[in-house]
Amino acid sequence: AQMRNEQIKKTKTVCTYCGVGCSFTMWTKGRKILKVQPEIESPANGISTCIKGKFGWDFVNSKERLKKPLIRKNGKFIETSWSDAIRFAANGLKKVSEKYGNESIMFIASSKGTNEEAYLMQKLARQIFHNNNIDNSSRFCQAPATTGLWRTVGYGGDAGSIMDIYKSDLVFIIGANTAESHPVIATRIKRAHKLNGQKLIVSDLRKNEMAERADIYLHPAPGTDIVLLSAITKYIIDKKWHDKKFIDERVNNFDDYYKSLSSFTLENAEKITGIPRNQIIKTAEMIHSVKNMCILWAMGVTQHSAGSDESTAISNLLLITGNYGRPGTGAYPLRGHNNVQGASDFGAMPTYLPGYQPINDKNVIQKFEKAWNTKLSVKPGIDNVSCIENIDNDKIKAMYIVGQEFASTGPDSEMVRKSLENLEFLIVEDVFFSETAKFADVVLPASVSLEKEGTFVNTERRIQRLYRVMEPYAETRPDWEIIQDIANELGAGWNYKNPSDIMDEASELCPIFKGVNYSRLEGFKSLQWPMKENGEDSEYLYEDRFNFPDGKARLYILKYRPPLMEDEEYPLHLNNGRMLEHFHEGNETFKTPGIREKVPDTFVEISNDLAKDYGIESGDYVKIVSKWGSVKVRALVTDRVSGNELYMPMNAAYDEEGINMLTSYNRDPDSDTPSYKELPVKIIKLKDK
Ligand code: SF4
Repeated sequence: AQMRNEQIKKTKTVCTYCGVGCSFTMWTKGRKILKVQPEIESPANGISTCIKGKFGWDFVNSKERLKKPLIRKNGKFIETSWSDAIRFAANGLKKVSEKYGNESIMFIASSKGTNEEAYLMQKLARQIFHNNNIDNSSRFCQAPATTGLWRTVGYGGDAGSIMDIYKSDLVFIIGANTAESHPVIATRIKRAHKLNGQKLIVSDLRKNEMAERADIYLHPAPGTDIVLLSAITKYIIDKKWHDKKFIDERVNNFDDYYKSLSSFTLENAEKITGIPRNQIIKTAEMIHSVKNMCILWAMGVTQHSAGSDESTAISNLLLITGNYGRPGTGAYPLRGHNNVQGASDFGAMPTYLPGYQPINDKNVIQKFEKAWNTKLSVKPGIDNVSCIENIDNDKIKAMYIVGQEFASTGPDSEMVRKSLENLEFLIVEDVFFSETAKFADVVLPASVSLEKEGTFVNTERRIQRLYRVMEPYAETRPDWEIIQDIANELGAGWNYKNPSDIMDEASELCPIFKGVNYSRLEGFKSLQWPMKENGEDSEYLYEDRFNFPDGKARLYILKYRPPLMEDEEYPLHLNNGRMLEHFHEGNETFKTPGIREKVPDTFVEISNDLAKDYGIESGDYVKIVSKWGSVKVRALVTDRVSGNELYMPMNAAYDEEGINMLTSYNRDPDSDTPSYKELPVKIIKLKDK
């Protein structure tokens, strides 16, 4: 037995499949993964994981992985050495900057990569190219939630810890498919609901698994969350059930805010949301009946043309009811990618330096200019989404994209792809030859999380370390090494020997990370930002003060804007979201045979009524058509959706069935996040496949 054990390596790592941030010990022999073992000391998950964390790793040995750098020559990709590839990549950026200026280059950091890698990407953009054109995937999903929280309470992160959700008397889930998207959080809620008498309210267009279990299930018309939430809030104040003491002591703007709610009557709410008024009253009564409530939400809220305002309405309701600053209370915007929180925290954002330090703050700029020995730009950068139109109007001429499937995850794939074709120079750094890589001039093969060191931040602001489980595949290299090489080829003179050096620099420059270092993150140890003056971390936020100069929260006045959906030619509404088995665009999980066997391709869910009207049965092929494109998928008739609602997973095995073949470039003006969920379509039954 000892002989056998000697060959088995046990390494701590962190899951890369969602923002819960489950950690576990991985048992390996060489490149073979024997077992994934969650530990009792795993801070976010304890002894739980889900199917993706447990079985989703075969892709690391997929034959389809990139092995060597590729350079495009005469329209063909040719394998090349690392030194040539780095030189080619650096020269390409340099040439474009000389020809069109520094601001003609856009940088995209990966939300799946480590904090240290996101930090280096933004440093490359800012220190070497003196621009703030740096962003990450949060623009596609949770930027509106961050905007809503910045407006009202001051930090763009979950108010409490995942463990605190257990302590809540009432969990209110809005526009989040928690059982499939954040399974381990859902397991905790299911347990507390069943065993501890925790109450559960779910508001969603689709009767998902959590909705089935809820004490109250609300089904609002698409894009009407502001009306629902504001009507609940107004009813609570009308009844004098608001937390007067909390508001007097800790919240600004109550009187004006209350006045602004005058149009959100039960009558109007019933008309606009389609939810009977007695259900709105029951919801308000249940909120009033408990001491501690937390609200969880995700892209069912944020990906709307009023996504920031809808997120703000959530925070307003929490403030009115005094639900901040204690375990079991607060706002939980559930993060999608494993490190979408961290990529933003560490500065991959067009208006913030690392640690959410604004680029328009003189002292901040001076501090970073001194540390990096450079002149920084104070002009807000271009983001992930506006970058598309800026390619079309010739402002952006080159891009460096790390670990993002830009060609499929941006809105309106056809438009994005045409734009990518117009770039003069494109670097793509990834694990597979992605759709985006097809447009590249140079493709750099990156190592996966199991092959490198670093840290991630999960949805509860928890910084956790991952260790090298196995050696890098073929000639792949960790992103931080590649970014450093490109920077140095451009004369940066960086000298990070390992990711720990990068973390030391970030913690030195960012008050919220002060005192964070690798020895404090050893093994399963972790720290939740913001770090306090006394060196401790923060399990939950806002105990004594909100993150504004006067320490008080701000109620934010909102106006309802109807969703951009009325269209006679396209009478149905297509909603979309995650499925349990697959991850995002599917580049990894569809390359994991066990998972692919279970769910081989994507589908569209159709209500019984609609199926009858159109003569469609489960398994039939249908064409879904929007103004912006069409896809061909199988139909699944189900009572999870009702009426004119359709639902499609956003994960696609084949590019041509991807949801973003259909979506539009319409956006939330406050965050620039595309309104992926506001999608009028029509459906056509196909005779054959
Ligand atoms: Fe991974 Fe999320 Fe599943 Fe945990 S819940 S194992 S982090 S996919």
